[in-house]
Amino acid sequence: MNSVKRIATSLRIEKSRIVNWLFLFVFFPFAVFAQAPAIKHVIVIGVDGMSPDGIQKAKTPILDSILKVAAYSWKCEAVLPTSSSPNWASMIMGAGPDKHGVTSNAWQPHKQTIELECEGTKGNGKPSGMWPTVFGELRRQKPDTKIACFNDWLAFNRLFEKGVVNRQRDAILLQAASHHGYKGITRMASNYFKWKKPDFMFVHLDHVDHAGHHDGHGTQAYYDAVSVADEMIGRIINAVKASGELEHTVILITADHGGIGHGHGGDTPEERFVPWILTGTGVVNGELQVPVKTYDTAATLAYLLGIKAPDCWVGRPVIAAIAQ
Ligand SMILES: [Zn+2]
Ligand SMILES: [Zn+2]
Repeated sequence: MNSVKRIATSLRIEKSRIVNWLFLFVFFPFAVFAQAPAIKHVIVIGVDGMSPDGIQKAKTPILDSILKVAAYSWKCEAVLPTSSSPNWASMIMGAGPDKHGVTSNAWQPHKQTIELECEGTKGNGKPSGMWPTVFGELRRQKPDTKIACFNDWLAFNRLFEKGVVNRQRDAILLQAASHHGYKGITRMASNYFKWKKPDFMFVHLDHVDHAGHHDGHGTQAYYDAVSVADEMIGRIINAVKASGELEHTVILITADHGGIGHGHGGDTPEERFVPWILTGTGVVNGELQVPVKTYDTAATLAYLLGIKAPDCWVGRPVIAAIAQ
């Protein structure tokens, strides 16, 4: 009797061990996989003319708290010339002006001055006549995706393929009345995110560049404008929180160029280096120790959005920012 009991006891132990092993090797990986939040939304908040110095010296409580958990670089390199169009273009086109041909603010899609190695696709599936952007590639590779663009600066519209976004709004009317287009843009972007939960949303704010031109970079008025940008970033993040999607969202905060004196366009470090701050699902924390170029942004966005970067893109995803 005693020996049977011993065997039974021993069998029970064995059985429980087997269950444990089964759980560890069969069920546990699925349990972990199921719990890891997936990226469903990618948001870019591009603040025209916002320099690393601007963020470091201005009162920016929102960005300060983001930096505690973000992967960031203060030395993301803009392209030359440090003008708006060449840099916004490079950011979304994954290459520099020598490739995409957007060499100045005078650029227009129907006035290409260089032979393009590759071409994007419009919303109707026809060739765009311009270098492919992350907007157009996302539409082409994932036709059902929801894409939105809210740009304070009207001319941003011409930098991506026609008909590829579900919602586009700019602040031209708001700006005609005042220089407070950023408020309307922030409100429209926040409301749209809560309403439609787009897969990819690009938000462009222009007021910091206005302050740089009007009052000068490094002035109190400039830093005050950066503080306002900080507040706008907070409003957009609050909208993402309210939508219940924060744990599935990655947000990139960056700029097209910095500035010196009352402008930009030259090759000084103050104009060339821009902040690049990535935060959200699966993003590691700390200052990036790898070089980051503004045209790496498109490749990084493609990586996060789960699409293939076109072979002609020069930029590479900033893998160091993302947990593997
Ligand atoms: Zn600009
Ligand atoms: Zn400017």
